[in-house]
Amino acid sequence: MSEPSSLGESAPSGESAPLGESAPRDHFDVAIVGAGPGGMTAAIYSSRARLDTVVLERNTAGGIMQVTERVENYPGFPEGITGFELAEKMKQQAAQFGAELREITGVLALELQPNGDWRIVTDEGAVTARVVILSPGVEARKLGVPGEAEFMGRGVSYCATCDGPLYRGKEVVVIGGGNAAVEEGMFLARFAAAVHVVHRRDELRATRIAQERAFAQPNMRFIWNGQVRRIVGETKVEAVDYEDLLDHSQHTLPVSGVFFYVGQLPNTGFLRGVVELDAGGYIVTDAHLRTSQPGMFACGDARAGLIKQIANAVGEGALAAIEAEKYLVARDFEARQASAGAPGAGASGAQAKFVTPGAAPADDAATGG
Ligand SMILES: Cc1cc2nc3c(=O)[nH]c(=O)nc-3n(C[C@H](O)[C@H](O)[C@H](O)COP(=O)(O)OP(=O)(O)OC[C@H]3O[C@@H](n4cnc5c(N)ncnc54)[C@H](O)[C@@H]3O)c2cc1C
Repeated sequence: MSEPSSLGESAPSGESAPLGESAPRDHFDVAIVGAGPGGMTAAIYSSRARLDTVVLERNTAGGIMQVTERVENYPGFPEGITGFELAEKMKQQAAQFGAELREITGVLALELQPNGDWRIVTDEGAVTARVVILSPGVEARKLGVPGEAEFMGRGVSYCATCDGPLYRGKEVVVIGGGNAAVEEGMFLARFAAAVHVVHRRDELRATRIAQERAFAQPNMRFIWNGQVRRIVGETKVEAVDYEDLLDHSQHTLPVSGVFFYVGQLPNTGFLRGVVELDAGGYIVTDAHLRTSQPGMFACGDARAGLIKQIANAVGEGALAAIEAEKYLVARDFEARQASAGAPGAGASGAQAKFVTPGAAPADDAATGG
């Protein structure tokens, strides 16, 4: 995606600017990977702290929120707000402080430069930044059953909010038992004649309030202890075969759509070998959201944290930006000391992994509001 920035005005890196327009910038104080709520909050804080900030997004800004029908648990919106609207508001807020969004095909690699800056490689060119904040989020896990890949887009979906209206008056299956399965199932129930939730346990993992709503929905049905084994059809989905895990009997359920909500995987493939990841592929940080690499911070769902929610991603985005700013202030302070020939200056240099917070004053704009 090489569309012009919607947060700022620069053309994407790697493209020449039209005559009369300024050339695209290729160096920033802060580069943020991912424009979900984590990345956009980091952009708000860092651009408001007068740091030259670019947000690199492989899709359109907004992250998972964009396909979340209604957000009811984000503070400040007692009536709830659509995920799309909330994403737009965050985008506007980052834009008003000067953050630039580049919608690219994806960040492919990150390379630490000898001077301590990062080179961020995308398939549309590279930029450098003094500090990087990672917020690439997660994506839906595939179940891997026969027919899943074959019927993708022809009855198989991972996003009820995107595809739900296509199933008006039809019967669909939702696979999973967590919040996403139940909430998205409720959304589907607005359109579909019946929503069958197939769950491999005998109770849901979703919150109590979500369960109460789902059980009260007349066209939602639950198949407990069920495991979908196969998706069948000629050119599109016509049925699912599932097994009753208690008595191992096999059943066929005629449906037009299959929606998978069986977990998530972090979007961190491009970070393998660059930064420390845990066994599940989530980015490891300390309490200051510093990763194992100097000048690299992480926030949001892709970080090895306890909860995956917008409010959490937003809080972490703010913290990552504030910590990034402290890092830059300390790095500049150290560079000045080194050029002034102060004894011991530059001992940790640009490679300093963890900067002592408060080593140099941080900008009020980021820390004080
Ligand atoms: C169906 C569903 C409903 C939900 N409902 C709620 C709710 O009601 N309330 C709530 O609080 N939370 C909800 N959540 C969770 C919430 O959406 C997430 O916790 C939140 O979006 C995480 O924000 P993030 O910024 O970490 O990641 P994301 O929102 O996932 O954003 C990450 C961004 O990074 C981009 N990206 C990934 N890799 C790259 C790359 N290599 N290069 C460039 N860009 C990249 C992605 O395209 C994406 O835009 C829901 C989640 C789902 C799946």
